[in-house]
Amino acid sequence: MQAGWLEINLKAIGNNLKEIKKIIGKNVKTMPVVKANAYGHGLVPVARKLEEVGADFLAVSYIEEGIKLRKAGIKMPIVILLGVSEAEIDPVFTYGLTPIIYEYKIASMLSEIAQKNNTNIAVFIKIDTGMGRLGVFYKEAPLFLKKVSALPGLKIQGLTSHLAVAETDKTFTEKQINRFKTVLDEAQKAGINLPYNHIANSMASLQYKESLFQIVRPGLSIYGIYPIPLLKKKINLQPAMSFKTRILYLKSIPPKIGVSYGHTFVTTQKTKVAVLPVGYDQGLFRQLSNKGEVIIKGKKAPIIGTICMHLTMVDVTHIDGIEIGEEVVILGKQGREQITAEEIAQKANTISYDVLCRFGRSNPRRFKG
Ligand SMILES: *Cc1c(COP(=O)(O)O)cnc(C)c1O
Repeated sequence: MQAGWLEINLKAIGNNLKEIKKIIGKNVKTMPVVKANAYGHGLVPVARKLEEVGADFLAVSYIEEGIKLRKAGIKMPIVILLGVSEAEIDPVFTYGLTPIIYEYKIASMLSEIAQKNNTNIAVFIKIDTGMGRLGVFYKEAPLFLKKVSALPGLKIQGLTSHLAVAETDKTFTEKQINRFKTVLDEAQKAGINLPYNHIANSMASLQYKESLFQIVRPGLSIYGIYPIPLLKKKINLQPAMSFKTRILYLKSIPPKIGVSYGHTFVTTQKTKVAVLPVGYDQGLFRQLSNKGEVIIKGKKAPIIGTICMHLTMVDVTHIDGIEIGEEVVILGKQGREQITAEEIAQKANTISYDVLCRFGRSNPRRFKG
């Protein structure tokens, strides 16, 4: 039995990139983030689509993701956001990947292998401007840059940094952008050439003109999700992921009957219950028990009772003419109704990224477009 399946609209992903490009303008290059299996949408098909519609770079977290893309024939520059360890120096060279660096030791090892092979290795240097995570602390950046730029065989493409509060705090975001600018200015004064610099995630790409520099790194928006609802006025994004299943069983039960583990739901009237063959093992957050909704025959139906490992019950008393095997939309659109990742995230007390990753981890994909 097919429990549930994802429908991935690759055309929407292509269109979303085009929409983002309209906002950032022709002079800014794009580096869509395809980490976490392209936010659950499927790494290789998404990368191929992005290559086809003219993305300039791709960003992944781990070197394994980069190798997978190379093996699939992706030719564009692939940036490894988390950097590389000593054991990964060789594959960086072999697969022509572009690591982000923030440690002198790794930089010098990359320099060595480049020299040994009579070539250059492209790198970006990560600066911590206020994320408190990876990267050279911005105050120490000028010295680090000076040392690394003296290493032969390294082709420093530019600097990169990551924003901590782009969606929530304008003042601090601007502070981070300014710290980044200051480091860039100092590098320029020191005669270090940095042609491609990037700090903007989705939110900054769409909302902070001064954050664009030469490249932007959108993730969430590529997949059609708005970083904040207000941006709906500014750009037309289309969610690329749907999650669907089919009704496994239907029955009517009388009033005062408990449904599912713990009897957290008890019928108050004669109730038509549809049983779905998906549960938290397929990424349906247990927090959606008695809270979430699905769409059947273009109508919303509430989830009743506790979500089980592989079964979920919905109340379909108000929906006529349904049968076993009827298609059910858990994430996505049907008729005039829609359930978004943001809605699910809010009910499950998490963020839309988590919703996409979780459905993406646990379910087979069907691609269209
Ligand atoms: C995930 C990630 C992004 C993309 O962020 P979105 O909010 O999804 O646009 C950009 N840069 C880095 C370093 C990231 O880890």
